[in-house]
Order: sequence, then structure tokens, then C-alpha cells
Amino acid sequence: MKINRLLGTVLSLCALVTPPALAQDGDQILDGIGETGLISRYQFKGNDRDWSRNNLHAIIQGTDFSFIPDSLFGNVLALSGESETFVSLPGETVSGEESLTITGWIWLRNAKPGQVFFDFGKNGNSHFFAAPAGTKEKPGLQTAFVAGAKDYTTSSDAVPLNKWCHLALVLDIPAKTMSTYVNGALAVEVKDVALDLSQLFDTDSDKNNKLYIGKSLGDEKIFLNAKLSDFRVYRIPLTQRQIARIYYTGLRGGNPPAGRRGQAEPNLQVFPATTPQLYNAFLVSVPDTQVETTVGNLPRLPRFVKGVYSNGVKGPDVRVIWPAPGDNSQVLAPGTYTVTGKVSGTSLQPKAVVTVSAAGTPAVPHRTLEAFRLDQVTLDADIHDHKTKFIENRDKFITGLAATNPDNFLYMFRNAFGQKQPEGAKPLGGWDSQQTKLRGHATGHYLSAIAQAYASTGYDASLRANFAGKMDYMVNTLYDLSQLSGQPRTAGGEFSADPTAVPPAAGKTGYDSDLSEGGIRTDYQNWGKGFISAYPPDQFIMLEKGATYGGSNAQIWAPYYTLHKIMAGLMDVYEVSGNTKALETAKGMGTWVYARLSQLPKETLISMWNRYIAGEFGGMNEALARLSRITGDAGYMKAAQLFDNIRLFYGDAGYSHGLAKNVDMFRGLHANQHIPQIIGAIEIYRDTEAPDYYHIADNFWDIVTNDYMYSIGGVAGARNPNNAECFTAQPASLYENGFAAGGQNETCATYNMLKLTGSLFLFNQSAELMDYYERGLYNHILASVAEHNAGNTYHVPLRPGSVKQFGNEDMDGFSCCNGTALESSTKLQNSVYFRSADNKALYVNLYVPSTLTWTERNITVKQSTAYPKEDRTVLTFGGKGKFDLNVRVPHWATKGFFVKINGKDVKVDAVPGSYLTLSRKWKKGDTVELRMPFSFYLEPVMDQQNIASLFYGPVLLAAQEPAPRTEWRKVTLDASDISKSITGDPSTLEFTIDGVVFKPFFDTYGRHSVYLDVVLK
Ligand SMILES: [Zn+2]
Repeated sequence: MKINRLLGTVLSLCALVTPPALAQDGDQILDGIGETGLISRYQFKGNDRDWSRNNLHAIIQGTDFSFIPDSLFGNVLALSGESETFVSLPGETVSGEESLTITGWIWLRNAKPGQVFFDFGKNGNSHFFAAPAGTKEKPGLQTAFVAGAKDYTTSSDAVPLNKWCHLALVLDIPAKTMSTYVNGALAVEVKDVALDLSQLFDTDSDKNNKLYIGKSLGDEKIFLNAKLSDFRVYRIPLTQRQIARIYYTGLRGGNPPAGRRGQAEPNLQVFPATTPQLYNAFLVSVPDTQVETTVGNLPRLPRFVKGVYSNGVKGPDVRVIWPAPGDNSQVLAPGTYTVTGKVSGTSLQPKAVVTVSAAGTPAVPHRTLEAFRLDQVTLDADIHDHKTKFIENRDKFITGLAATNPDNFLYMFRNAFGQKQPEGAKPLGGWDSQQTKLRGHATGHYLSAIAQAYASTGYDASLRANFAGKMDYMVNTLYDLSQLSGQPRTAGGEFSADPTAVPPAAGKTGYDSDLSEGGIRTDYQNWGKGFISAYPPDQFIMLEKGATYGGSNAQIWAPYYTLHKIMAGLMDVYEVSGNTKALETAKGMGTWVYARLSQLPKETLISMWNRYIAGEFGGMNEALARLSRITGDAGYMKAAQLFDNIRLFYGDAGYSHGLAKNVDMFRGLHANQHIPQIIGAIEIYRDTEAPDYYHIADNFWDIVTNDYMYSIGGVAGARNPNNAECFTAQPASLYENGFAAGGQNETCATYNMLKLTGSLFLFNQSAELMDYYERGLYNHILASVAEHNAGNTYHVPLRPGSVKQFGNEDMDGFSCCNGTALESSTKLQNSVYFRSADNKALYVNLYVPSTLTWTERNITVKQSTAYPKEDRTVLTFGGKGKFDLNVRVPHWATKGFFVKINGKDVKVDAVPGSYLTLSRKWKKGDTVELRMPFSFYLEPVMDQQNIASLFYGPVLLAAQEPAPRTEWRKVTLDASDISKSITGDPSTLEFTIDGVVFKPFFDTYGRHSVYLDVVLK
């Protein structure tokens, strides 16, 4: 009895603090819509905060408002309409957006015309509004999209008085529609809307945009008399189904309905089954194949098989889509079995006969190559003395970084430790602002970036000195702060040095993530020895206790993700400068982490690392394995292995399958949460040589690049599950489940894929790896930076007529991708060359104008070229010696690969997609000329092959689009030789097909089509 009564008390207390709807605050997928589509969300439960991750907090202007209890939503905002009281949203909310959806609940209390639910725009002549009780001119619910003389309106029944009503207004710019939904159903739609958002908003200065709830942009002094709840702004045109789901979830008091998650949104062009899918239309048969594997390991089935075509057509190898089991039950015993695949656009059913043998386990390689240090490779101008894209992008970031104030990047660290801010220090915005639970992440990227910038600017002494000064200042401050943790403030004062014995903040009984000025704890003496972060330890502790991702103080963001950036940054500084305080700070935190995690049961770790976003730990396993190598302390390696994502790596707690056995465990998961974990696996393998870690990384790379990759090299962007940052729900189904409306190709994910790819190549010199590297580097990373400044992309959308959006040009408000961009563009030269660990071989991986100083051999290599604006490059040696020169023969070099040494032709047998070895005693002044004629080729989407990207050599060519569009751009190409349909100039890489201009994607800043609907004639 006693126990029951006590339980009852505790439960009712919880119910008081945590109203039911709070459980989904800030969810990654909210009402079936990925948060990447959400710009901002105002629940109005007692405050005007934005509950998205974007920190676009509203401001309630005036005094005639109150937050009042409500039986459906718990607590809502009530505006009296009596005086000038309204809600104002930040102008940057709509910055650079293509389309817009606005949704919200309204309880209208008065039928006076002229009241507005919202009014967004530049002024009373260019705006978008909804008037629930009509305008002065027209009765009924009126919405209007007005820009100058153009005026589009919808008119429907007035919003009923004194009951909750859900409104959703959708401006779908590519579809040219404006739609009004009432209570989850379409009320009225206007077609042929010939306006876009740049006519509505001031795109040069966000501050000139006015976004009001409850007040019109016109002159009338009529204010809204209504209750409001859950007002949301989306950057995508929501579908009827999504809007209905928001409505029904709201009616249930915030409890999402079960099911329906696995259905792709019907917002992508659909093709009839009879649509010819490129060369597959000429396909007669695909022969069966034989594949071998060993017990326990799923076979690696060939994605491409030689096909037989009709009428002597020479088609490419045929993409076969095989079923992808979720475990390894098919291969648990020796024997044979048959797998049946499919070929998109045909009824062919190719077969693979799999032989499972008992013998042995797959072999694993050693690490035989090393990368050069950044200061050993310098980017050069091209042979015409033009700056390359590499140099242009590098300089935008170097210039921007040199001008930064390190105190801004230290602001939240000092804030967490209760220290005074120095003169001129300004807090960063974005994901580092006061109340953002990820604050400090940009500081980690910044440390890495200034370390790389220091190493990469040997060409300019003053820049080097600038970055050296910044590194010292940052590290000294962080070191001093870290030394405060877990030490008494005054002699004899109380403290807690034990990382596992951090007490709750004074006056509290538990832990919370309150980072507000008034709520943040700063009792660093209790945080355990060595602790360093831009927030107190609570988020780490809450994660262990089951906290989920979200914006409330009972929730967290991703504490270990942020920590990974900081630790990696500290080690980057240590490695380029030898600053031992940087290493000491990293060690202190590594020890802190090990103390906490080593006492947790395995089930807790599995639960933590599989928790959406909350358990996202970046590459903590990589950072700790690296720390172990740098320090020689095996304890950090043990700490690294505590981050093993057991479900991903080994399938289950019994270690029965997973990526180690080639089972695809990451379908539908958040891409960038998991790629760094794989980088960690290969880093752990480097020093342990425990084979599973190699297989995990190798299998992951094979699956992700074959089954999840867009043509630019990006790997995320799902319609199912509906999240721009997730892998598709099933492999090899990009068209069925990918091309999320909210965007694709999170730039961080490609940053991490390049890092993984480079690491794998040091173990396994497969040209396939560096072919991918070239693809991702040229067509995503180089393409992700703004034309004239260091602004950069988050997602890179590839739907028809998309536009890249660049942000953070002033380096003052970072998302994750703004962070990795700092790193990418300060190390662009890092994979052009590798050397063998014994210095007997050199690898030339990329054809980039550059100079290598191979100090270990006292040899220089100057690479002179205008590649990719020409198809040849010349390597000139300074110094002499015998070594193997390994040059990459790209997979696309199908028209030959020609070599001249000292001007004379050398007969070589170069196979596309391999490395060619040229061995001799090289002399000073020797030259090697490589020529690899470019050709045009198509890269189709595996499950809808008429949708394809056009490449010319390594360069993805994008159609330059004059206007938004909903359908893929159609092009007709000659089936026997597509180049017959293309004209243009290879030296500028500008081409024309049917009057449409194509440019490299990395030179495209306007509207583009990277994928085309290709008809072969
Ligand atoms: Zn990112």
C-alpha cells in the first residue's frame, strides 16, 4: 500500500511537469515530416520560443496577450485584439526559400473582417496573408499572394467562431499553386500562380521582411482576437496527407497516429511502367552469375552484369537490383542457394547462384600507405595561370577565418564556466546560441580549420602567424577552463573530482539541459576532473538515463557529437603545432568519458548509441582511437570501443551478423549520424587489426556507394522515411524512396564519406575508392560553396530546377554543414598524393595543379595542368631516386589512357578503374605526361534509369534552368553515341543540348537540373 501511494504521488508530479504533447518537441520526424523541412515552430505553451532547431524565436509585441490553459493543447496564446498586440517572427525565417507552407491552430473569437491570422512580406504591396473572417472587401476566409500588380487570392467559408480550426496555406512555387486547407482538407486551390518568393520578400536583406501573426502589413489598425497554438513554417510545399496528419495529431492532443510512416510522399513525377529506361529498353537478357561466400557472411552480389542487347546495340553493364536481407540467416551453413534480382524497366529476372563454403574468413589488409601532411602539398594556379576552383574556395575560407575573433568561438565555453567575457566577444548564432544544446560544436570545427589553415598557408607568412596566434589563444583558454573542472574553487572548498559523481546543480534534485542565462549551472568544481565543453555535464548524464532529442529542458541534443568536434580540433592543433596543452585538454576529457562509460552496462550503451540524434556521437570512437595512438595509452582505445554501435556493427547484442557480416543495417537511418562511426571503425582497426572493424568499414562503403548514392556523391535524402538526412528505407531504391522534397545530400555526409574513403585507400589501393573521392570532391564539396564568399550549403537539392542555398558567409552562425565546410575547404589538397609507408611508392590520385614536397625522399613533384578543363596533366620531378609511380586511371577513361615520359610515348596497358604503375629510377627534371580523353556518359538512378545525370570525364554537367519546374527536364540523345547530340567547348566545360546550356555543377549558382529525363533515339 505504502509503495503504491508513493508511486502515485511521483506519477502525478511527472504529469504536472511534463504535459503529454511535450514528448515530441523538436522531434526529428514530426507528424511524418522530417525536421529538415521545418523552418520554425511556435507552440505558444507559455512562451514565444521556436521549438525547431533553428532558433528563430518569435517576439510578442504589445501587452494585450496572455497564455491560458486549454483542454486540447494544454496551454495556448490568447491575443485580445484590443490594442496593437501581435507576434513578430525573425525576418531570416524565409531567407532564400523556394516554397512555403504555413500551418497553425486558431480559435477565432470575433467575426470582425480585416483580422489576419498571419501576414508575411516586404510591405502592404508585396505580401502573403490569411484573413480568417474576411477582408473589408470580401467575406469568408481570404488568402492572398500579392506582389505589385499580380494578385492571387483564395476564398472559402469563414473560419467558425469559438472553436479550434486548423489552417494550412501552401505556396508551391514549382507547381505554381496556392492552396488553402481547413481542418486537414483542401478547401480551395489557385493554379498558374506566376510569382515566386523573391517578389514577396527582400532577398538582399532579411531584416526588411516583416512576418507578423495577428497584424496586417497594411495600414488598418485591426488586430486579431483569437487563441493560437502550434504555428509552424515549412520550407516545403506540404502534401494533403501531411497536412491531414498534422491536423489529426493535433486533435489527439499531440499523440501521433500509429503506422503510415513507411509510405513515400506522392510528390515526385511518376512514370508508367512502359517508359523506356535508357539502354534497358534494348536489353535482351542478363546472364546468371556465380558468387562465392563463406559461412556467416552475406555474399557481395554484382551490382553490374554484362547484358545482351538487341540490334547490336553496345549498352553498358546492366544494373541489377538484388533483394537485401536484414540478417544472415541464408548463409549460416555451407551449401548453395539462388537469388533472383530485377532490372528496372524490364521483366528480366537475372539469377545469382551463391555457394557458401565453410572455409576461412575473408582476408584483411594492413595499412601500407600514408597521407602527406597538409604542408607538404601546395595548390597551384593552372597552366594558364588561372586560379582553380580549389584555390578560389580555399581563399574564401582562409580570408574568412583569418578575420574571425576567437573570443566569439570561446563565448559559450566561458559562459558555461561562469567567466567574464572579454571586450568585443560576441556569441555565435545558429546552433551555438545561448540556449542551443549543441553549442560548442562550431568551436571544434574552428579548431580543426585554423590548424589546417596554419598548415596549408606556407605560402604566406602573415596568414601563418595569424593562425598560429589563434591556435595558441584558443587552446590556452580551453586548457585553463578545463583545469577548473573538478577542483575546489578556494582552498578547502567542496568539489567533486570523480566524473561519475557529478551532483545535480545546487537546489535541484535531478539533471536538466537548461542553458538559459538564468538557468545554466556554472558549478564547475563539481563536474569531474578534466571536463571541457560549452555546457555543463548534465546532457551526458541525461543521455545515460534515457533522455531523448528535443528542445525541452528534460531533453538533449547530441552531447558526444559536440564533444567529438572539440576533441578532434584539439588533436588537430596538437599535431600541426605540438601544443601540449591541446593534447592535455583532450586527454583530460578522454579520461572523463572513459570513467563514465566504462561503468555502464552494455544494454545501456546499445540504447544510447541507437537513440535518434541524442546518441549521435560523431566520430568519438575515431577521436579516442587517435588519442590512444598519439599518447600510447591503451585505455583510450578501450574507451573508443565503448562507442561500438553494436546493432550497426554486429546486428544484435549476440554479435550474430551486422555490417561485419555484410548485412545492411543502416537502411532508413540518419546518414551523418552513422558515417563517422564507420570512420571510427577503420581508425580502431588501424591499431588493433581486429578484422571485424575492417569488414564493417569495407562493407559499409560498398553498400552505401552502390545502393544509396546520388550522382554528386551524396548519400542521404529520403522520402521514406520522410527526412532529408536519412538513408532511404530500402537499398537501391533512390527513386522509389529518395529525392526528399526537403532536400538531399547533406554536405557533412559527403565530407565524412571522403574522409572514410581516403582512410580505406590507405589499406586497400582500389581505384574505385579514389574514383568516388574524385566524384564527391568535384561534384559536391567544390560545388557546395557560394560564388563570391565562404557561404556554403547544408543540403544540395537535386530535384528538377533546384537551387543551392548558401549560408554562414560571415562565419557567425553555424549548422553542422557550415562547420564541416570550414574543414573541407582548408584541406582540399590532402588526398592528391599518397606515399607508401616505406616511401618506395608514390600515388597520384587526383589531377590537380599542385606541388608535392616529398620530404621523406627529398623529391618534389610539380603537377601542371588545367584539368578538368583539359584532359592531360604533366608531372615534373625535382630530386631523384627509384620508386613506383602509381597513377590513377579513372573509371570513366574509356577512350584510352596515354603516357609520355620525357616526351616519348610509353606503351602501357591501362585499364579504366585501376592504378597504373610506372617504375624506374627517376631523375631531376623527368616529366610524365598523362592524357585521358574525356567522354560523355550517363549515370542513371538505379531504379528509374531514364532519370540520369550527364558527366563529361569527372565533371557532372547541370542543365541551367531559367525557371522553377515540377517535372524533370527532358532531353533526347543519340542512342548510338550520345556525344552526337551535344555541342560545346571542352576548354570551358560549357555545352548545349537542344538549346539548353549545361555547365559544371561546381560552377552552377542558379537554378539547375542535375538529373534529366533522358530519351535515347
Ligand atoms: Zn551537416
